[in-house]
Amino acid sequence: MQSITILGATGSIGVSTLDVVARHPERYTVYALTAHSRVEELAAQCAQFRPVRAVVGTAAAAAQLDALLRAKGLRTEVEWGEQALCDVASAAAVDSVMAAIVGAAGLAPTLAAARAGKKVLLANKEALVMSGQLFMDAVQDSGAVLLPIDSEHNAIFQCLPQGYGRVPAAAGVSKILLTASGGPFLKRAVETLDSVTPDEACKHPKWVMGRKISVDSATMMNKGLEVIEAHWLFGAPADQIEVVIHPQSVIHSMVSYNDGSVLAELGNPDMRTPIAHALAYPERIASGVAQLDLTRIGTLQFEKPDFQRFPCLALAFDALRAGGTAPTLLNAANEVAVQAFLEQRIGFRQIDRVIARVMDELSHGAVSSIEALMAQDAAARAAAETLIGAQAK
Ligand code: NDP
Ligand code: MG
Repeated sequence: MQSITILGATGSIGVSTLDVVARHPERYTVYALTAHSRVEELAAQCAQFRPVRAVVGTAAAAAQLDALLRAKGLRTEVEWGEQALCDVASAAAVDSVMAAIVGAAGLAPTLAAARAGKKVLLANKEALVMSGQLFMDAVQDSGAVLLPIDSEHNAIFQCLPQGYGRVPAAAGVSKILLTASGGPFLKRAVETLDSVTPDEACKHPKWVMGRKISVDSATMMNKGLEVIEAHWLFGAPADQIEVVIHPQSVIHSMVSYNDGSVLAELGNPDMRTPIAHALAYPERIASGVAQLDLTRIGTLQFEKPDFQRFPCLALAFDALRAGGTAPTLLNAANEVAVQAFLEQRIGFRQIDRVIARVMDELSHGAVSSIEALMAQDAAARAAAETLIGAQAK
């Protein structure tokens, strides 16, 4: 029996994780569930999965959750705040932690899970992008097992030689090929992009996801963050990572070898596949996802990404090549700009402009400590807010 904490249980990945867990009550038990503000959803999940502990964002949310749980006769212990998130991610009773909080808010608890030597199922790519080497060192030092949930990285993990998880020099890997659907604006006239609404940007052609990652997919910053994520997870330099547009999202990524072989992982676009893979690894369990019917799909297409249409992708490659805390700045500026776009304070095309300006204006340094990272994160957020405020006037 594996005991699991799900950070971000009420989100898109959290809900898909619980769907897989519910199919295998003989294998998994839920130790803790966390959310930020969707208290009623969390209460319903607690009623179904009976966790020992539940964590929310504020004291008021905790009081509300506590009342809902007592009314249902549940004994789940209710806590709130960042320290409580770290506690349920590192508790001795926990085997596996699903890291599915969105954005930088997930860094502290995900790092706590890594430091405590847990099996870390990583969906929260922003945590790895912003902390890079520091996070990988924590995994190495504690003996934690890091398994990628992001569909591309999970695919790459499956296509690398068994048991490696990283690109070994001797394995003959020539390239990592990260596939990208291209999002909702792959073919839309560039000059009309300034007027797109948040709802249009969030309408992904292939995946149903939270709003932040949906906007990231529309700008292709999501792929940019994934390039940086692949660099850290697999130890691959920027030049060894290539982005390929594949609108059908059937191939989830590929690894190309020096003998000419290209290995790919295929499946229907449903996050329950990588979630089930990582939960059960190295075994396989049913995920609820329908088997792929290639004859119905018929055609798989591929094209090169257009860096002019998607400047965020270029910005991410630049940040990876610059190294140090450049990805931390990129991630923070992006989070602020995406939030401003979702709140209709800036237009879609201003997202990349804000990020580019922040990257230009702030100097980046070495990743020395978590405190130094958080200071860079805060500086980039403040600079992005100032730029957005100036543009709004
Ligand atoms: P959602 O927005 O759907 O869910 C986010 C979750 O995090 C919710 O449970 C939310 O709580 C919680 N949360 C939000 N803000 C905070 C905070 N400040 N402190 C603590 N918890 C918080 O996001 P997704 O599920 O789409 O994405 C989660 C992560 O997984 C992201 O990093 C994303 O990039 C990654 N990912 C997602 C994929 C997908 O298909 N959705 C695919 C690959 C990666 P509440 O519900 O109360 O707001
Ligand atoms: Mg992905």
